[in-house]
Order: sequence, then structure tokens, then C-alpha cells
Amino acid sequence: MKAPKVINTYCPKCNAKTPHTVSIYRKGKESSLRRGARHHEWELHGYGGQKFPEQKRKAKTTTKQLLKLKCRQCGYTLDRLGVRLRKLELA
Ligand SMILES: [Zn+2]
Repeated sequence: MKAPKVINTYCPKCNAKTPHTVSIYRKGKESSLRRGARHHEWELHGYGGQKFPEQKRKAKTTTKQLLKLKCRQCGYTLDRLGVRLRKLELA
């Protein structure tokens, strides 16, 4: 699906309908020194193997992708949850 580069929508900070710049949300790199990552690494350490079942066969072939909308007047950013899609691109 193609999403427009600019969407006119409600901004809660301006309390009005304003033009928003659209970008696609992408997950950032996970830090290996975070609390959960260190704990997970420690759980896998030593004798005993994997601590929870690994998901091998996924039922879903598509993902829900987020649109990040940034207000052009105040800079407030809001996320808009999309429908399930194979591919999302900006038109
Ligand atoms: Zn705004």
C-alpha cells in the first residue's frame, strides 16, 4: 500500500486539524547491555539450553506497520497503527 507523504489530521497539542509529515516507523537497534538482554543471556548460559520455545512456524505472513505523523506546526509526533500489510511505502 502507498501512504501519502502529508496527511491532514487532528493534532492534540494544537487542538486543530493540521498538516502532518508522514514517515514509516522502524525498530531501532537493541542494546545488548540492557537489563532484559543481560538477564536473557544469563538464562541461556551454562547447561540447560533454551528457556522458552522458539517460534518456528508463524501463522501470519504480514505485519502491522506504524505510520509516524509529525505535526508541521508544533512538531508533536503521533503514531498511527496501520492494517496488516505486506509492504508499506510512501507515495
Ligand atoms: Zn500540532
